[in-house]
Amino acid sequence: MRMDANVPLIRLRGIRFAYPYRPEVLRGLDLDFFRGDRIGLVGANGSGKTTLFHIIMGLLKPKQGAIEIFGSQRREEKDFHKVREKIGLLFQDPDDQLFSPTVAQDVAFGPLNLGKSREEAMDIVHETLGVLGLSGFEERVTYQLSGGEKKLVSLATVLSMQPEVLLLDEPVAGLDESMTERFMTFLKDSGLSYIIVSHDHDFLLNTTESLYQIKDGVMRGLGTDGHSVQKPVKIKPMESCISP
Ligand code: ADP
Repeated sequence: MRMDANVPLIRLRGIRFAYPYRPEVLRGLDLDFFRGDRIGLVGANGSGKTTLFHIIMGLLKPKQGAIEIFGSQRREEKDFHKVREKIGLLFQDPDDQLFSPTVAQDVAFGPLNLGKSREEAMDIVHETLGVLGLSGFEERVTYQLSGGEKKLVSLATVLSMQPEVLLLDEPVAGLDESMTERFMTFLKDSGLSYIIVSHDHDFLLNTTESLYQIKDGVMRGLGTDGHSVQKPVKIKPMESCISP
């Protein structure tokens, strides 16, 4: 998708959201996310990080606010079809992502849905699994995989769609060191734009360039002194900005 580099891929303005009968989670959240951005997103449990991802994907509808993605306003369900082709969401729980009997079927699902032939889809399956160090997993039974393997296969299902942007919700929770390393290397080499929600500060330091926090229902850039700044600004990660 060709776009003016000055136009954000994702622009949110004044997003307000509450689950039924619950206090408001997002209270006027703004975000400008540009091509090439690699953002780490932190915040207390329940602060609304997953909710924000689901709003960007059109899985939840804000009660107020504007969503502009790839230069177009996104309001109704149909406006989000293109968004879901080009933005890949890695769910926090792989069981929400994986639903086919075998790994190959799960990873092929997206490409087939996009209209690829069976042969093209299988080429993508082999390539994607290879990149993630999962060659040979094609015929494995999905529900028998370990938690870490499921997480990587979930990522494979997202990558097989060849997205432009990744939204990664706790991607390395439950992964061992070598799998985390593999994930890190993949992301750094990928050339993709992404937002990562993670409690793993080392992982964020290694994979992102700027850090934001959701607090009190809004998103703020985290300054290098560890204090929030009002406007989301890009900052270089420094140990001091995210150490406890
Ligand atoms: P985070 O990802 O930052 O941990 P979430 O976005 O998952 O936070 O959740 C924000 C708040 O909304 C929490 O208080 C959570 O309990 C609540 N919440 C999440 N999903 C639902 C739901 N489906 N129904 C009601 N409340 C929900």
